[in-house]
Formats: sequence, structure tokens, C-alpha cells
Amino acid sequence: SSKEHGGDHYTVFDAGMRVLTQRRMEMELALRQAMEHGEITVHYQPIVSLTTGDVTGFEALARWQHPRQGLIAPTEFIPIAEETGLINELGALILRLSCRRLVELTRNNPDAAALTLSVNISGRQFKRPDFVEEVATILAETGIDPVMVKLELTESVLMDDADEAVRTIKRLKALGVKVVIDDFGTGYSSLSYIQRFPFDSLKVDRSFVGNMNEAEQNMEIVRAIIAMAHKLGLEVVAEGVELAEHRTALSELRCESAQGFYFSKPVPGEELDTLMRQHWKSAPASDS
Ligand code: C2E
Ligand code: MG
Ligand code: MG
Ligand code: MG
Repeated sequence: SSKEHGGDHYTVFDAGMRVLTQRRMEMELALRQAMEHGEITVHYQPIVSLTTGDVTGFEALARWQHPRQGLIAPTEFIPIAEETGLINELGALILRLSCRRLVELTRNNPDAAALTLSVNISGRQFKRPDFVEEVATILAETGIDPVMVKLELTESVLMDDADEAVRTIKRLKALGVKVVIDDFGTGYSSLSYIQRFPFDSLKVDRSFVGNMNEAEQNMEIVRAIIAMAHKLGLEVVAEGVELAEHRTALSELRCESAQGFYFSKPVPGEELDTLMRQHWKSAPASDS
């Protein structure tokens, strides 16, 4: 009977859990060692003004430079870091490394002081009671001008306790940093919901931008997001700009800035000196 087999089922489930737990622990150990051995690095992708064609800032993107497996994407290790709680240390490391790099860049090129540094913050990191203090410590330690720093949050951090999220965002802004809503449109929140959080700017998710020209509907979604964001006083950054046509369309929609492979892929920190001087002349107007 099922009752007699109950014990066995439980044992099988238990063994499965053990394997999962063991795998997670192995990954946690590997990631922890990678952090200690300096295998976690930061790549940077420029954010470009659609009005001037100048680089206005960079987004810091985590990379794991594995000695045997090569470059590992954050989509593979960030979720593990989030599950194991290692994201707190990892997030602090990325913020510290990228602030340090921007300070160094500013030292060599005074023009870099006008640039911004965007850093992704995971929900688990954001919800930690000492998160704001940690940001303050890293800002002070690295000596970066807080006005250069933009923290990117996704909608997921706003869902469970909106009042607490508003308080945390206000405390962050009191440090002088800016707060951005990332991947907008992928979650469930409407712009009217977003309005209660004191964001400075909004990033339109690349899933809408990427196929804007193929599907009229996507173009209309991007148009609506930009128009409403502007009504709420938010500047807009479009992600995933891959083609000249995307750029032209976004300029016509009065989108302030853009980021994507059309301009540049994320590059190692050594290339920032060159990249910051790059300029993209306005794209030729579309023929149609
Ligand atoms: P995100 O914050 O939305 O970052 C933009 C992602 O889009 C990056 O992927 C970037 O390489 C990619 N991308 C940029 N332009 C284009 C384009 O034109 N076409 C396409 N197809 N993709 C483009 P990446 O570097 O693999 O990062 C993926 C995600 O991992 C990030 O999405 C972010 O959510 C997360 N992530 C990366 N670094 C960190 C970090 O330090 N902390 C946390 N918590 N999350 C991070
Ligand atoms: Mg981001
Ligand atoms: Mg994004
Ligand atoms: Mg995205």
C-alpha cells in the first residue's frame, strides 16, 4: 500500500534534497573562492545620450573570469549568489570595484567626473537592514562623488513591502546617489504604482526595444512608457539598442539615453579611457 511505501518516498525525496543542497554548497564554495581569488571582475557598457551622441556613463556588469571555463555570465552565477546569500558580499564587491575604477578614471581624465556609474542591486541585498550603511561605507572608502552613482533596482524589490522600499530609497537618495528602476515592463507593476517610489530614471527593458521595428505593438509600448515616464518626471534609458533604426526611433520618441550592442558591448575596465571619448554622430534619418 501507499502507506507502506511512504517511508521510501520520503527517503527518496530526502536524498534528492541532499543532492541539491550539496550542489548549492559546492557552487557557493566555488563562488566564494572566485571572489577571494579575484576571479570576479566588472565589465562596463556605455550609456549614450541620444541628443549629443556622447557617452554619459557606464553600467557595471559582473563577470566571473573562470580559470578553466573562461568568462561566465552573471545570469549563471547571480541567481546562485542570491539563493545562497552570497549576493550581499558579491554585490558589495562589484560596487567597490566599480567605484574604485571610476575614481581612477576621473583621476586620469577630469572629464570623467561628469560620467555616471550604474550598479545593479539585487532584491535580497536591498532588503538587508544594513544595506544603506554598506553603500555609505563603500562611497566613503572609494572616495567616489555620490552624484556619479546610480543604483539599479528591479520591480521585484518593490513588491512585498512597498513602504519599507520607499524608506530605503529615500535613505539612499539622502546619501546623494540616484535610484533607477531597471528592466521596466517585465514585471507586473504599472507606472502609476512606480510613481510612489522616488526614482530618478527608468530603463525600458530590452525585450520591448529589441523588436520595436518588427512589431508595431512594441513600438507603441515603448512610446507609451516613455511618454508616461516623462509625465512622472523620470528620464528614460532604453536598453538593448542593437540597430541604427532603434536609435532613430528612440530619438524620435524623445528618449534621453540608450545602451546596447549598437554602441558597444560591455568591455573590461581597462578600455574605459578610450570608450569614454567615443562619440556617435546622429544616425541618418530613416528613409521611410
Ligand atoms: P541588466 O541589468 O538589465 O543588464 C543589461 C544586460 O543586457 C547585460 O547582460 C548586457 O550585456 C545586456 N545587453 C546590453 N546591450 C544589449 C543588446 O544590445 N542586446 C542584447 N541582447 N543584450 C544586451 P549581462 O551582463 O549578461 O547581465 C545580465 C543581468 O545580470 C543584468 O541585466 C542584471 O540583472 C544581472 N547582473 C549583472 N551584473 C550584476 C551585479 O553586479 N549585481 C546584480 N545583482 N545583478 C547583476
Ligand atoms: Mg541593469
Ligand atoms: Mg536592465
Ligand atoms: Mg534587462
